[in-house]
Amino acid sequence: MTAVRSLSLRATMLLLGFVSGGIALMAALSYEDLKKYTVENSLMRIERAAKAAASLTEAHFPESFLVERKEKDLPTLIRLKGAESLVSRAEPSALDRLVKEIGRINNGAANVFAWNAATQAFDRFATTFRRPDGSMPPAFSIGAGHPAYESIRDSKVFMGDVPVMGRMRYAYLTPIVFSGGELAGVLAIDVGWSDDLVTGQERLKERIFLASLLIVAITITIGGLLHWRMLAPIPALARVAHRIGAGEQGVSVPGRGRGDEVGHLAEGLERTNQLYQELEILAFSDPLTGLGNRAHLRRELKRTFARESWTQVSALILINIDQFRGINEGFGASIGDRLLIEIGDRLKAFSGSYNPPPARTGSDEFALILRDCPPERLNYALDGLWDMLSRPLAFDGTIVEFTVGLGVVSLPVHASSADDAERNVQLALKAAKAKGKGNIAVFDPALDARARREHDLSIALREALQRNELAVHFQLQASTKTRDIFGLEALVRWPQGNGPMISPGEFIPIAEANGLIVELGSWVLDETCRIMRQWLDAAILVPHVSINVSPAQLWQPDFVETVQETLERHRIPPRMIYLEVTEGLFVNFSEDRIQSIFAGLRAVGVKIALDDFGTGYSSLGYLHRVHLDQIKIDRTFAVDIDRDRSKQRLLKGITALAAGLKLEVIVEGAETEAETRFLMRTGCDAIQGYFFARPCSALLVPQEIENVRRMLSLLNPEVEAPITKAKRSSG
Ligand code: C2E
Ligand code: MG
Ligand code: MG
Repeated sequence: MTAVRSLSLRATMLLLGFVSGGIALMAALSYEDLKKYTVENSLMRIERAAKAAASLTEAHFPESFLVERKEKDLPTLIRLKGAESLVSRAEPSALDRLVKEIGRINNGAANVFAWNAATQAFDRFATTFRRPDGSMPPAFSIGAGHPAYESIRDSKVFMGDVPVMGRMRYAYLTPIVFSGGELAGVLAIDVGWSDDLVTGQERLKERIFLASLLIVAITITIGGLLHWRMLAPIPALARVAHRIGAGEQGVSVPGRGRGDEVGHLAEGLERTNQLYQELEILAFSDPLTGLGNRAHLRRELKRTFARESWTQVSALILINIDQFRGINEGFGASIGDRLLIEIGDRLKAFSGSYNPPPARTGSDEFALILRDCPPERLNYALDGLWDMLSRPLAFDGTIVEFTVGLGVVSLPVHASSADDAERNVQLALKAAKAKGKGNIAVFDPALDARARREHDLSIALREALQRNELAVHFQLQASTKTRDIFGLEALVRWPQGNGPMISPGEFIPIAEANGLIVELGSWVLDETCRIMRQWLDAAILVPHVSINVSPAQLWQPDFVETVQETLERHRIPPRMIYLEVTEGLFVNFSEDRIQSIFAGLRAVGVKIALDDFGTGYSSLGYLHRVHLDQIKIDRTFAVDIDRDRSKQRLLKGITALAAGLKLEVIVEGAETEAETRFLMRTGCDAIQGYFFARPCSALLVPQEIENVRRMLSLLNPEVEAPITKAKRSSG
């Protein structure tokens, strides 16, 4: 049997059980009481009647009968005096009078039977019974089979029900014996129809049963109706509570406005519902754009993956605005916000009602889930999305051009869980960003492999740093003005035993991503200063050493103190140190903050160089606002500079700009003699490139210094005499 779940039904059933049980118990007890009293009453009457009959018999025929009595004066035997038979002894009319009188006094019947030895039965010869017409009833005998027969034949009293004319009467039979003890007959009296009593009891039983049934039926009907009226909303409320708990929106709560407990319950539930909806809005939406937020995306992805079967392929697209910070700084934050809102609106329009609402998952990042999007439809959808996002923003007469990067994963092809999907779409976006502005990349398992390699490298790098396995190498910079060494750049190296070298270009971004860069940077600073101290002690003179610094290091609250402390510990004059920062700094941090850190470093006495100039940030405004000492023009400018006219013009412009700002200019990456010669004529202060020197270990630095000096002395920019051989022969 299945358990009854409905509370109200259970309560009703319990109530009914108690009510009917109570009624049944009460009825049974009353019935038993009644039965007991009736039985006691009948017993009392029959006993009284038996006593009366015996006394009357003795009184009417004192010469013939002697009554023997035992407890309670009840007759047990009537003895005949003399040997004369019962039938011949008393005159029938006298016996008739006796039984009549007994019957009248007892309100019942009385009979005298004589023992018939021939038939072995008791034959009636005096009785109060008469036919309805007053005549004598037919002859009657108590023979074998009669309930009293066995007992009275053994001269023992019988008390109980006996059949009379097809019905039952409650009777008392006293045996009559001769003085010698031989059976003579029996005196039988009764107190009326005992089956009437039984019928009465049966009828009472029936009535009690019917009355109980009626009460139960009425209770069920009225109780049920009342229950239904009062408790009917409870199952509905329970269902509503369940739906609210499951996060369903727009649920309406029934039963409010009732003044009773159910009404209070409904109102409480409604308040919970409202609170839940408010929380839902707070927890799952982005206030600026009105889109969902990252939690919303996660929930939608989980729902997508919770489906049992993939009848359709979905796509997850991650969108990131290229160089949003530049837009914010260039046009102001309110235009930046406008752009975010506009992109949000475009995405909403694009995704429509069939797809889950789009989400803004980061400051300049959006995500979109497209349902039912197999590869052929995906390409079409991406085209549409691309067109939509390529339109510039026009706002109050300002036109804002922007591009976005798009990472795409196909679900469940590229991911087996919501976590996977989020991770892989990030990888795809990263790949798109790596291709440059305005690019799109679909997830590829190779990206996953790369991510895994990065993860492994990240662990290995941490161990290498702990085991002190890293090294610092130095690359010389040649001065175009003094024809001597300009300075050196410290470059970290991760020796791999016999394996191929892992370039800092690969492991520095990993260290930046996992936070290890702070520790690594401090180690490079310390190691560089340690080596410089050795050079100073050995009178190996180097003008200055440039050390690369990542943004994460710069944001350490104690960075300035760390630099100062390290320099002091190794007794390095601060003017011998340049710290190289990249343009990326300006993309992610405010100029005020950068200014204050630079001011701190300047107070320590170190100089600041801007590395990889010309590769990233488009706005040059910060060059005026932020105090720098040196710019290092990126390697891409040096490639083919001797032949590429547009690069030459660009380089000229930059050099003039730097001169105007009194900044030193170094050009990086000159590999050929032609490039070097050309660069020496452009007015830059120094050249750093493989042509002069490759990075080398600290031990080789003195030798490299000599090499570079020799090359500089041989290199006359105006004369096209190759010196490569001379350099090679010395190395
Ligand atoms: P960077 O600071 O711009 O350093 C110059 C890079 O250009 C070095 O690569 C150097 O070997 C390479 N290079 C110099 N001349 C030439 C040339 O003529 N041709 C070519 N093809 N390359 C040339 P490296 O050592 O692989 O370092 C790569 C980048 O890793 C560095 O670029 C710098 O951003 C970063 N890095 C290196 N060491 C550190 C460090 O200790 N801390 C931090 N934060 N970054 C570092
Ligand atoms: Mg550098
Ligand atoms: Mg550089």
